[in-house]
Amino acid sequence: MPPAESEMVAALGSLLALDRVLAGSAVQRAYDCDAYTVDRSAPTCVVLPISTEEVCAVVRWCIEQGVPYTPRGAGTGLSGGALAALGGVLVSTKRMTSVLEVDVPNRCLRAQAGAVNLHLSKAVANDGLHFAPDPSSQTVSTLGGNIAENSGGPHTLKYGVTVQHVLEVTMVGTDGEVVTIGNCVPGMPGLDLLGVVVGSEGTLGIVTEAWVKLTPNPERVETALASFGDARGATETVAAIIAGGTIPAALEMIDEGCLKAVLAAFPLDVPADTKALLLIECDGSTEQAKTEIANVVETCEKQGALRVDVAKDERERTKLWTARKKGIGAMGRLAPTIVTHDGVIPRSKLPEMLDFVYEVAREHGLGVGNMFHAGDGNLHPIFYFDDRQEGKIDAVVAAGEKVIAKCIELGGSASGEHGIGVEKSDLLKLMFGPEDMRLQRDVKSVFHTSGLCNPCKVIPDQKGCVEHMRRWRGAAN
Ligand SMILES: Cc1cc2nc3c(=O)[nH]c(=O)nc-3n(C[C@H](O)[C@H](O)[C@H](O)COP(=O)(O)OP(=O)(O)OC[C@H]3O[C@@H](n4cnc5c(N)ncnc54)[C@H](O)[C@@H]3O)c2cc1C
Repeated sequence: MPPAESEMVAALGSLLALDRVLAGSAVQRAYDCDAYTVDRSAPTCVVLPISTEEVCAVVRWCIEQGVPYTPRGAGTGLSGGALAALGGVLVSTKRMTSVLEVDVPNRCLRAQAGAVNLHLSKAVANDGLHFAPDPSSQTVSTLGGNIAENSGGPHTLKYGVTVQHVLEVTMVGTDGEVVTIGNCVPGMPGLDLLGVVVGSEGTLGIVTEAWVKLTPNPERVETALASFGDARGATETVAAIIAGGTIPAALEMIDEGCLKAVLAAFPLDVPADTKALLLIECDGSTEQAKTEIANVVETCEKQGALRVDVAKDERERTKLWTARKKGIGAMGRLAPTIVTHDGVIPRSKLPEMLDFVYEVAREHGLGVGNMFHAGDGNLHPIFYFDDRQEGKIDAVVAAGEKVIAKCIELGGSASGEHGIGVEKSDLLKLMFGPEDMRLQRDVKSVFHTSGLCNPCKVIPDQKGCVEHMRRWRGAAN
């Protein structure tokens, strides 16, 4: 029998400090999901360690007592990765926020896992450097969460996802031992264990610290906002820009559904009949950025853009980014619940895929807007609905599954950046054959000795997971 709540709090309190162990119904309610609110499962308690040693002590206690535990950063994940699927202890890195070392000559820094993404760039802003992965949640999401999800962002198109910017991680393994994986010297020999850990969604251990690469700030950034009379015109332009030989730093799209929400919430100067926007950024040397943006503007105009605005200064650049940066918040005003899906398709299939998304939303009686990393073919349909209405949760789950199945049918992937979590754990088999799944299970079992670390995520291997899954959805209704 696992220990009762009061015993758990007392034992963990003696390992950390009592005020860093949270329990009770309000805490359980506050921590029962992440930003994917369809599935919910409450932890028994939440701990707030401040060091690798404290994380180690908590994990060892959980192993001794047979208590499941789940790592959690800011809880902005969009696939249910940070919910405590089988209850137990939620290990929050919220208090582990320090930037520990900055090595400017070697362009890298070491930080604790709970450091907020944007704070890493702020720490080295005066050195003309930044941490390139920039998920749109970067003002709150943590380094540990970014590593676990292998997060992308608007600038992934040019700069790559998180795994390309992590050099070394310190992790408390599932046996309670501290391991260091990777090395500050890039391109080390041996198997790429860092590549296995980054993107493993907290199922292989708890990352407590990491060394990450720093990227020089570009000499110049040019930003354009192109308005189109229909979504198809915008999606076809995405493929045309890349086919024309320019790889922008960012190439984001906002469709009519999102634009309506943005226009209702913020002033935005776009032509009256705009149905889709492309936000395009080119950077590098002054000459490179200017040449690339000129090519992009020409392509947009040839493809029939209603208008293309190019920012003249930083103030105008911020204005052009408004719709993209504030879009999700604006969508939140349309209905009590929004669910953001994440799939990938080849860029050339974007027009067909968007038409499919609109059809699925109609079929299931859901509102939808799309705001996404179009240059990567990384689609984010945002379904909005009232989850108090009978059947809406089932409808949004069914719609999401259809969208993902279509992405895979079109030669894409079940996730571009939000991970698999609990949301898509039973969809992986659409992408991978039995042999591939067996290999993934085998690799996981090498790390996962106790079966207690973040159970039921990505590759669920406990019998209890299916039963619990039904309960989570029930709780959401
Ligand atoms: C408005 C909004 C915009 C977003 N935009 C983007 C985007 O542009 N690109 C993108 O990729 N994602 C985006 N996301 C998704 C999310 O922000 C990212 O996945 C982010 O990296 C999660 O970080 P977090 O600290 O919130 O992690 P959490 O949500 O707390 O956890 C996410 C996963 O990481 C694991 N985890 C957390 N910390 C650790 C640790 N220290 N060690 C091991 N595992 C850990 C958890 O168990 C869980 O599986 C967005 C989310 C929102 C709400």
